[in-house]
Formats: sequence, structure tokens, C-alpha cells
Amino acid sequence: MLATMSRISVWILGDQLLLDHPALVAASQIAARREICVVLVESAQRTARLPYQRKKLVLLFSAMRHYAEELRALGYTVRYLHARSVQEALCQHVADWQPERLLTMAAAEYRGRLFQQQRLSSLLAIPVEVLPNSQFLIGRFTPGPASGKKMILENFYRTMRRHWGLLLDAEGNPLGGLWNFDHDNRKALPRSGLSIPPPLRFDPDPLTRQVMAEIAQLEHASGCVDGFDLAVTRSEAEAAFEDFLCHRLPNFGPYEDAMSSRNAVLFHSLLSPYLNLGLLEPLDLARRAEQRYAAGLAPLASVEGFVRQIVGWREFVYWQYWQQMPGLLDANGWQHTRPLPQLFWDADTPMNCLRHVVGRVLENGYTHHIERLMVICNFCMLAGIDPAALHQWFLSLYVDAYEWVVAPNVIGMGLNADGGRIATKPYLASASYLHKMGDFCSGCRFNPKTRSGEGACPFNFLYWNFLLEHESTLRANPRSGPAVLGLNHLSPPERAVIRQQAAAFLEELPLYPASAESHPADAAGSCSASGQRAP
Ligand code: FAD
Repeated sequence: MLATMSRISVWILGDQLLLDHPALVAASQIAARREICVVLVESAQRTARLPYQRKKLVLLFSAMRHYAEELRALGYTVRYLHARSVQEALCQHVADWQPERLLTMAAAEYRGRLFQQQRLSSLLAIPVEVLPNSQFLIGRFTPGPASGKKMILENFYRTMRRHWGLLLDAEGNPLGGLWNFDHDNRKALPRSGLSIPPPLRFDPDPLTRQVMAEIAQLEHASGCVDGFDLAVTRSEAEAAFEDFLCHRLPNFGPYEDAMSSRNAVLFHSLLSPYLNLGLLEPLDLARRAEQRYAAGLAPLASVEGFVRQIVGWREFVYWQYWQQMPGLLDANGWQHTRPLPQLFWDADTPMNCLRHVVGRVLENGYTHHIERLMVICNFCMLAGIDPAALHQWFLSLYVDAYEWVVAPNVIGMGLNADGGRIATKPYLASASYLHKMGDFCSGCRFNPKTRSGEGACPFNFLYWNFLLEHESTLRANPRSGPAVLGLNHLSPPERAVIRQQAAAFLEELPLYPASAESHPADAAGSCSASGQRAP
């Protein structure tokens, strides 16, 4: 009887692979580890919800299975369940194991959290305790907006730096006298070339190879398992972080916005897939980057840039997600309705930048921030693509994509569809920005220097067309007003040419069929049983 009373189950979600998971900590205070049954679920329904990138699924399931091994080695009882749905798996578990109660940690995402808080206990007919999410710093301290003011990233970030004591001098002022070193950053790669140490890659172990074989067989998925080389354990993720600190952090700041056709990662960390699964901890990353500066091993501009991404942007978008849900998913401030073009599923386009960037996503599920923002979202903004369609594309294909991070970044930051709550102005750029920050334009059929006419880069006439279409709205925003001033240089005949060329381009942009049965990913990125991309 006593043993039955202490039977506790802990349900851990696939993106909560924390060693100090709050539900494990709480359960360990009540029962011995062997009496705590940890449940992890691979749900077929969830896996089939979108045409997910196969490498993303391999990462998730391999990391979950390795985590199960990690917990078993620590003495926990672990049930790793494959089921049609999470509900089915948990009901079956309760029937089989008859726990007295279930502990879990609040999901990072809206629907999952609602399910935990509102339905789970009655579904299982046992008490369910949903503990606060501990994967984000704002669970421990949340900067509030000054009364009546809108919270913008810069204020949020400074408050976080002050609270956590990051990169501050003895008086609490920012090291180097500045909160922001953007003026030192934002460089293009030098034309003479630069040695870029590649990120650490990991050979799949037998467990990962088993997952790869299973995922290669999935029908409703995109891309290919071949070449999977991401970290799937805590120690591998830790090694990837050390590698970044030693080899790429010093140049992270200056080349944060640079783009290259020859290198997808450049000096970026490639840590988001691991952070988002709970294999790395954000404050630890920020503190250890700070230590590199203190030890004279990395310049302040790079370390500040990295800390800003981790404790600034990452936390800010998670905070924004919870401020704006559930409405964020339907936000469409610019009322854009064009479906996503086929090129997003096959990278078949003569535009060099889009071909490279979309190709990288289809192949590996990763591009760095500026390619996400200034190539993909910029194109979709200028082309009037439906925000919900792009949101689903990102969710499906990026290895680090989860709704809490994709919705605010794509719908908010990238497409400015949330009424400017995340970004105070739309990120819009013509080809001259892409030409300045990257090398995609050389060898491209289109000319980045001509605004319209034969051979003009579509980013140019789409950009000017957007300004013409939305002139009054843009002029009303003091932050985007200056861009519109450029319109004063356009003569009426050139305006007409731009409008015509943009309309013709958009008309010809091939659309993918909207029916679920013939989803473009099924044709474009399918994998044969051997894991080879289908011809
Ligand atoms: P680095 O450039 O090395 O940056 C370090 C870390 O900072 C990242 O690992 C990430 O954890 C964090 N970070 C920086 N900016 C952001 C941000 N805006 N939001 C959240 N975290 C940030 N990030 C995801 O984790 N998953 C996504 O699906 C995702 N989709 C995005 C879509 C768009 C349109 C945009 C503009 C940004 C998106 N981001 C997303 C944020 C950012 O682009 C990625 O976190 C980053 O590119 C991941 O690569 P990295 O680890 O090499 O990052």
C-alpha cells in the first residue's frame, strides 16, 4: 500500500530534456528515483501534423531517446512510449502503471499548456500538477514595461542585463560604456576571404542511426536524413558550445549580419537546436561568453552581441509570444494573402539568394538569422505572402523551430503582421542591402543595381512597389518614414514601370496547390527508403 501511495509519474515533453527538470526535482523530494516513472511519448499524430524536415525529426527523437537513457542511468524508471497520440499514450500509461498522480512542466507552447492545465487531469482521472516552465530566464524574472509604455527589445534587454549582472562594471554600468556595439558589427565578409572554422559535427551513433532509418521511411515529411550530424546529447551540445566559444565567438559580432553563398554558418553558434530542446541553459551560455571577454579571449563587441541574442532577443520573443497568444497566429496587419510559392519547396528559382537560402533550409533546416529575416521574410513581405503560410513553412522545415519562437519571429519580426509589437518598423530592403552584405548577387542573372526594367533584381522592383503601395502607412511611422522619402526620386513613368513589373512578376510566381493531399513537400523533398532524396 505504501509503495502504491508513492508511485509518481512524471511526463516530460520532447523539448524539455532538462537534467534539473522541475517535475523530476519535485518528484525526487517525495519518492525514491526507482519509484518515479518518467514518461516520454513519440506521437504519430503530432509527427504527421506538418511535413516536417526529416533532420528535425531525427534530432528530436534521437535527443529524446538519449535523454531516456540518461535518466535510466540516474536510476529513474523510464517508459518511452510510441503511440498514435499523446493522450492515448498517457491514458494507457495510467491504466498500466496506476500512478497516484502525475507531475509535468508547463509546455513552452500555448496549445500544449492549455491541454496540460485544462484537460489532462480529467482525462487521466488523477491529480496533475503543472509546474512552471524553467527553460527561460523570464520564468525567474520578467522585466515589466514602464507604466503605460510599450516594451521594446532595448529596454527589455537592459533590464535583463542589470538583473542578471551581465557585462556590467562595479557601478552597474555597461562594460565599455555602451549597451550596444552594433556600430562595430554588421560587416560584410572581406572580399580577400577569411578563415572560418567550421562548427563541430557529430557522427551518428547506433541509436541515432536507428532513428534515421525509421524517419527515412516516413511519408509525410520533407528533406533527407542523410548527412545528419547534429548533437543529440547534453555532452555533445556542450562540446558544440565550447567549440563556438573557442573558434567562432571572437568574430561573431562583426560578421553577425554577413551572408555567403559558400558558407551557411559563418561565425554563428548553431546552438538554437540544443537550447530549444533543453540540452543547454541560456544563462550558462551568457555567463561563459562573458568569461571569455574577462579572460581577454573575445572582444566585447562579439560577446555583447551574443549575450544580446541569448538574454535579449530569445527571451523577448518568448515573452512576446505569451503576450500575444492566441491572436498572434492569425495576425495579418498588412492583409497579405498570397500563397507561398512553389520555390519554397524546391528552391527552383533563378534568384541566387533565394535559391541558396531556401536550398539550405530544404537540405539541413538551418540558415542564420539575417538570411531568415532579410532574404526569406523580406521577400515574402514584399511579395505579400500570407503570414500563416510562411509560419507553417518555418515550423515544418527548420531544425530549431517551435511555435513559441517561430510565431513572434516570422509573423511579428519578419512580416510585421502583429501591428508592430515586436519590431517597431517593417524590415524591408532592396537588393542593395543583399548585395552589400553578401555575395549572392555575383553570378546571379539579375542586376542588383537596376530598379526596374530588363534584368532588374525582383527585390528592387518589389521593394519600390511596396513603398508605392503602402506610402501613406509607411510615412505615418517615424521609423520607416525616411525609406519612403526615396520615392521622391521616382518619376511618374518609372513608378508605372515598377508597378507593372511587380504585378507581372507576382502573377507569374508559381503557386503551390493548396490541397492537403498534394502537399508540395510530398513531391519536392521526399526520401526513399535508403534515405536518398527522390529524383
Ligand atoms: P546565433 O546567431 O549564434 O545566435 C545565438 C542564439 O541567440 C541563438 O542560438 C538563439 O538561441 C538566440 N537568438 C538570437 N536571435 C533570436 C531570436 N530573434 N529569437 C529567438 N532566439 C534568438 N530561432 C529559433 O531558435 N528557432 C526558430 O525557428 C527561429 N526562426 C526564426 C525565424 C525568423 C524569420 C527570424 C528572423 C528568426 C528566427 N529565429 C529562430 C531566431 C534566430 O534567427 C535563430 O535563433 C538563429 O538564427 C539560430 O542560429 P544560431 O544558433 O547559429 O544563432
